[in-house]
Amino acid sequence: MSKEQKGLNFIEHIIEEDLKNGFDPKNIRFRFPPEPNGFLHIGHVKAICLNFNLGKKYKAPVNLRFDDTNPTKEKQNYVEGIKKDIQWLGFQWDKECYASDYFQQLYEWALQLIDQGDAYVDSQSSETIAAQKGTPTQPGENSPFRDRPAAENRALFEAMAAGKHQAGTHVLRAKIDMAAPNMLLRDPVMYRILHEPHHRTGDAWCIYPMYDWTHGESDYIEQVSHSLCTLEFKPHRELYEWFLTRINPSEGLLPKQREFARLNLSYTVTSKRKLKLLIDKGVVSGWDDPRMPTIAGMRRRGYTPQALQNFADAAGVAKRDNVIDVSMLEFHVREHLNQIAPRAFAVVNPVKLIIDNYPEGETETLTGEINPEDPNAGTRELPFSKTLYIEREDFKEEANRKFFRLTLGKEVRLKHAYIIKGEAVEKDANGNITAIHCTYDSKSKSGSGTEESMRKVKGTLHWVSAEHALPITVNAYDRLFQDPAPDKDKAQDFMDHLNPNSLVVQKAFGEPSLATIKAGTTLQFQRLGYFRLDESSTPEKLVFNKTVGLRDNWQKKNA
Ligand code: ATP
Ligand code: MG
Repeated sequence: MSKEQKGLNFIEHIIEEDLKNGFDPKNIRFRFPPEPNGFLHIGHVKAICLNFNLGKKYKAPVNLRFDDTNPTKEKQNYVEGIKKDIQWLGFQWDKECYASDYFQQLYEWALQLIDQGDAYVDSQSSETIAAQKGTPTQPGENSPFRDRPAAENRALFEAMAAGKHQAGTHVLRAKIDMAAPNMLLRDPVMYRILHEPHHRTGDAWCIYPMYDWTHGESDYIEQVSHSLCTLEFKPHRELYEWFLTRINPSEGLLPKQREFARLNLSYTVTSKRKLKLLIDKGVVSGWDDPRMPTIAGMRRRGYTPQALQNFADAAGVAKRDNVIDVSMLEFHVREHLNQIAPRAFAVVNPVKLIIDNYPEGETETLTGEINPEDPNAGTRELPFSKTLYIEREDFKEEANRKFFRLTLGKEVRLKHAYIIKGEAVEKDANGNITAIHCTYDSKSKSGSGTEESMRKVKGTLHWVSAEHALPITVNAYDRLFQDPAPDKDKAQDFMDHLNPNSLVVQKAFGEPSLATIKAGTTLQFQRLGYFRLDESSTPEKLVFNKTVGLRDNWQKKNA
């Protein structure tokens, strides 16, 4: 193996091998082929990154092909959603293609197969056909219609296409081998009758081609050289190749199907069918609910395209199925946001902090850096006054030596402000703390250069000035499932593993600069985590979605 080949993934090895054997690099072409029956999810992110990054590497076009052969499940708004999501991820396709644009060509090829004796119309019910399939160890049974004369098959198939037959009365099947060890070759169905309008072809067709008959032929029409799909399609490869040799095109290259492992993520389901069920049952608010592992959901939650790409890179391209820990995805989100997210203060579980020796009615404007990771990001203004809010968890009346936050008689720093010392508490009739009193050291202002400002204290707290604070709403999201493998066992419904606390809505206070943040911006609320300003926000009601915490404390929490 040469030096530069070492870092290649196994798909790149296959391509390098093809090139070495004389494959013309100008003929390399890829496609990403989603079915528009839902929104794209984290699994698709991997397939998208794989295809489009190969496209970049080999300077080869990548088509976006909608695999739209099932009008009962597919919709135009899914087409639009998929296009938006791929572009947001940072990729641009060459041609926008639709399997439905090939219906006429596929139909003509089907007639060719009929004429060649490679396909026949079966007039049995789907139940009977299934019962004749046999088992992996037992050969199937030939249909009584298997030897129907070609002319009769043709007439029937044309009548099917012309709408003369009801759904379920006939199908077109490839005539291969009912004893084939690969069950997929036991005369697979190529077409079924469906009197359903299609989102693009309308009422033009009432027969629709099946996946296996459509996919390879679409790859051939587009001259895709390397048709990459997930491992579960491996047994389909033989059928893919059988169809291509039977249409026997006189020119152009024959595409090759190559398989890679699906991306599975812990604590996550990645199946459009299951994701749709979560919506239909009202567990989440839609495809873009920030708890969904969809691109639309992750965008709304505050994940960045760069973080998703970095994650897909790190996950790699595997030959065997495996499960990747969701904390690895969260790690990449955190990593990228740490570099780019503007900092701000927000207090989500507020308690009043009164500085007894600070002048009544006075306000001073302090400054905080916008992003310590980015010296060019500049500063923000932080109004400071006598009455502040801090987090309730940041105070304990009685604390042991390991508690580095505020307690009575001890000092902490208010970030970008002063050093304070806890003095007393006010309580209501039930003994709940309603306010904390403290004193401040007026010479200890951060960055003022005084001896007092250099004084080291153990804890630093964030805060907001009560009279300047903006009331905000925080959607504190957590993982949707509490089991690492929610769909592991078939007997139990994956819905049984839902995390009942995956969304907690909190009323919080934010620093005044939040009023000028643009929707879609993800901030770091210091000491709390990353939060994205949701599009549903209005100036009167700012809504932030929690993207991810600053640290991975899930393991600890559930240990
Ligand atoms: P789903 O089961 O969620 O509907 P799918 O495989 O049916 O997924 P398609 O829209 O048909 O979804 O898939 C488009 C492309 O994305 C295919 O090439 C498919 O192999 C790939 N893909 C889908 N899920 C994953 C995944 N989890 N990991 C990697 N690639 C995936
Ligand atoms: Mg599918």
